[in-house]
Amino acid sequence: MSVNRRRVAIVGAGPIGMEAALAAAQRGYAVSVYEAGSVGEHWRRFSWVRLFTPFHLNASERGRTTLRRSGVALPPDAAILTAGETLRQYLEPLANLPELSGCVHERCRVGAIGREGIIKPQAIAATGDAARVGRPFVLRLEPETEPPRFASADIVIDASGTYATPCATGAGGLPAIGEEHLATRIERHLPDLLGSARSRYAGQRILLIGGGHSAATALVAFEELAAQGEPAAVSWVHPVPRATSADPFATIEGDTLPERHALTTRANRVAREAAWLTRYPGATVTRYESRGGSVRATVERPVGEAVALEASRVLALVGYRPDTVLTRELHVHHCYATEGPMGLASAVLAAASASPDAAGDCLKQTTHGAETLRTPEPGFFILGAKSYGRNPQFLMTLGHRQIDDVMSLVEADEAAARAPTAG
Ligand SMILES: Cc1cc2nc3c(=O)[nH]c(=O)nc-3n(C[C@H](O)[C@H](O)[C@H](O)COP(=O)(O)OP(=O)(O)OC[C@H]3O[C@@H](n4cnc5c(N)ncnc54)[C@H](O)[C@@H]3O)c2cc1C
Repeated sequence: MSVNRRRVAIVGAGPIGMEAALAAAQRGYAVSVYEAGSVGEHWRRFSWVRLFTPFHLNASERGRTTLRRSGVALPPDAAILTAGETLRQYLEPLANLPELSGCVHERCRVGAIGREGIIKPQAIAATGDAARVGRPFVLRLEPETEPPRFASADIVIDASGTYATPCATGAGGLPAIGEEHLATRIERHLPDLLGSARSRYAGQRILLIGGGHSAATALVAFEELAAQGEPAAVSWVHPVPRATSADPFATIEGDTLPERHALTTRANRVAREAAWLTRYPGATVTRYESRGGSVRATVERPVGEAVALEASRVLALVGYRPDTVLTRELHVHHCYATEGPMGLASAVLAAASASPDAAGDCLKQTTHGAETLRTPEPGFFILGAKSYGRNPQFLMTLGHRQIDDVMSLVEADEAAARAPTAG
């Protein structure tokens, strides 16, 4: 291992943060990973969900090789595992590798990131001011059991994902009236309907909102509950299906991910046939009112009058957004559509408009060159799910390639800084 004591701070010990930590540690950087919860915190929240992608797409070549070399027995490359199994069999052993010993600080949220001695309006690269280059970063750490403190770093990788910041459920993506008062009656992450969340859902009146794979997973679980004799009465507010199909979930012709194909096919059948399900395609929730132990939601249909729905619980699976407040003091240019970093987002959007069919299939996403991962803030990179912002097409296999790209950028910048200047 080469020795390079430049300090790399990584925000988030999710699958991409941990892979980035290993890559940086193996290059000799002094690595600190700050994690709000535990290693793989977001995977823990949907640990029972079977991932679509096989093991070798969820674990980097570097990680698998290093673990095998250190004697850890890994699942077969083609294995389809749950998030919890992948956490236990891969991510936790990765975090326990000797090269990452002492690097991971769990229950230590990063509250904000800035640049030592420089505030946002100062040192703007576009005006020719290079004062940010080489200036250390300052991170405001908020450990769970200790007072906040500052930490310093030369390079920062933000791999904090999006799962901690759910989107709102109301008209135009805004919070519906009263949404802010629903604290315990609304769930915004996929619950384990057949396990720990069963008592909250079985036999209850539920308002389900959302039209992505999480909503499909919930519908399939509601079908299981019904088959086990405990049906919930589900009202489902979801986007209008694509014009080419009456089915709410798009299936991909010749899908090479059988788990994804099975999920969307089954969820479409549930949507067509389930007697316990009432659909509100294209409708919007505009208002919530708490009524004793239940919620009354006003749902406006695209055509026709509004309806009032009573539910004991709202399950809102309407997507997640990046936490842009974290980097408010830095020079980060966010995409107007996705809130991802602009360089990458514009490459992704250009690829999507050039090939609209591929845009709906996360497996067809590619990387777009190391330079697209730069932000206007030198030495600051956003990787992983957060790099895609509100675009849900991110897959871990892309994140593994992003890490290699960023490492090559950082090394090239260091080599350029060491090179003698001409003249
Ligand atoms: C139900 C579901 C199924 C999925 N299935 C697949 C699949 O099959 N294949 C696939 O490739 N992808 C899948 N994904 C997407 C998957 O979640 C991501 O690919 C992967 O988790 C992204 O990893 P990440 O490290 O970028 O972010 P995350 O896994 O979201 O990790 C971010 C980490 O940062 C921490 N964090 C957040 N904010 C802070 C802060 N301020 N300070 C410190 N720490 C912080 C979090 O606690 C978390 O541990 C799925 C997602 C969901 C929700």
